[in-house]
Amino acid sequence: MNDLIRFLDVAGVNSDVREELDIAWKSVLQHGRFVGGPEVELFEEQFASYCEASACVGVGNGTDALQLILTALSIGAGDEVIVPANTFAATAEAVCSAGARPRFVDVDPGTLLIDPAAADAAVNSRTAAIVGVHLFGQMIDVPRVAAVARRHGLALLEDAAQAHGARYAGHRAGSVGTAAAFSFYPGKNLGALGDAGAVVTQDRSIADRVRRLGNHGCSPTNRHVHRERGRNSRLDSIQAAALSAKLPKLDDENRRRSALMEAYAALLPSSYVPVAVSPAAQSAHHLAVVRTAQRERAVSALNSAAIGWGVHYPVPCHLQPAFSAFRERLPTVETAARQILSLPISPTLGEADVARICDVLRGVTS
Ligand SMILES: *Cc1c(COP(=O)(O)O)cnc(C)c1O
Repeated sequence: MNDLIRFLDVAGVNSDVREELDIAWKSVLQHGRFVGGPEVELFEEQFASYCEASACVGVGNGTDALQLILTALSIGAGDEVIVPANTFAATAEAVCSAGARPRFVDVDPGTLLIDPAAADAAVNSRTAAIVGVHLFGQMIDVPRVAAVARRHGLALLEDAAQAHGARYAGHRAGSVGTAAAFSFYPGKNLGALGDAGAVVTQDRSIADRVRRLGNHGCSPTNRHVHRERGRNSRLDSIQAAALSAKLPKLDDENRRRSALMEAYAALLPSSYVPVAVSPAAQSAHHLAVVRTAQRERAVSALNSAAIGWGVHYPVPCHLQPAFSAFRERLPTVETAARQILSLPISPTLGEADVARICDVLRGVTS
């Protein structure tokens, strides 16, 4: 019997930094400042610098990060925000939580990322922003989407929840938009030991307002003065300490993911086509997504071989019951949703695991 290959090996990734994590969380336990401890500011500095951006504000999770950016930009009731239909529901949820209306648009058939022409065509007098989602680890077509945003005077938000460390034409995810939202959910490329997130931006005034909004609207100089109605969404000290312990390993882990993706490209049978990566993009390979006409048979073969898999995402956002008020017909994403299959790509895997997965897929006959 072959060993099980997990779709996502969170325990394995964290066991590589076990000692660092032990030291980190013990020191927080010692000083007891679980919220607002010195670890938070340290991680914020490290992550801003990693993203080649001016500022980072730790928040509760990636969904909050998106909503706080929108609110900090005064985007809300009466505004529309353009969102690609191929994303995790959280992207559209955050738009709704901010009080705005998501306007779903179709994706590029090669990369499955937001289609700049579709975004352009969806702009109307109520449009306030575009959320570019760097899905599967690959950044959006930054020059073309940024040009659409500029032409219409819109904010460009980066949903970078799946793209820690990715680059486009040399520029890091988190450094190219008006502001970017990161998630450190345990399964992301940089994962905390629970929920966590951050806003990254080149604009310190946006960072200041996000910090205030996520801390009950408090004035930074006098916490008893609530300058505006905020909420509670903060990064806690233990998560910040864990993230600082793991950040130095991120580039190596992303390189490992990249090597695994190359192995897939070399070994996959021709009926499984990896999602295209633009020559200008350096993907963080959060997910190894292929397209196939025989997904059902592939999935049952993987199940029999005890190999994990996923589908991101089986139901596009615009067809979700929660967003039935924002229905569209978006043929490219609807077709892709029936064909996409995510294969294991945890940095703890080896080339031999990829070879075994490809062998199992080769045995699937049409
Ligand atoms: C994970 C994810 C989010 C949400 O992040 P949370 O930290 O879980 O709130 C948002 N967008 C995308 C594309 C994601 O993958």
